[in-house]
Amino acid sequence: MKKPDEHDSHDQSHEHTHDKDMCRRYLGSLSDYVDGTLGDELCEELEAHISVCENCRVVVDTLGKTVTLYHQLPSPELPDAVKSRLYTVLDLTAYVPESRTGSEEDGQ
Ligand SMILES: [Zn+2]
Repeated sequence: MKKPDEHDSHDQSHEHTHDKDMCRRYLGSLSDYVDGTLGDELCEELEAHISVCENCRVVVDTLGKTVTLYHQLPSPELPDAVKSRLYTVLDLTAYVPESRTGSEEDGQ
């Protein structure tokens, strides 16, 4: 009975401080990259670096998601029904600790 995948061992002795200057340089272009305004050459350079650099990959991933979200959600507002419901729940939680209001509009 062994775990099939024991991959997660903290091995601090293996620290590779590879090209941190490079990272720093690319990091400045990352926002341009996710915006799609970076030149083709730089894009390829960046992608090549990202494919071997987890740090930068995480940054791009985060930025990319943020940008994608902005593009996909032009109006990040909740539907009124959801919002009022949320407000109700919050109000009840804040003012009625026992959640006993006598009304049955909870709907669970
Ligand atoms: Zn990097």
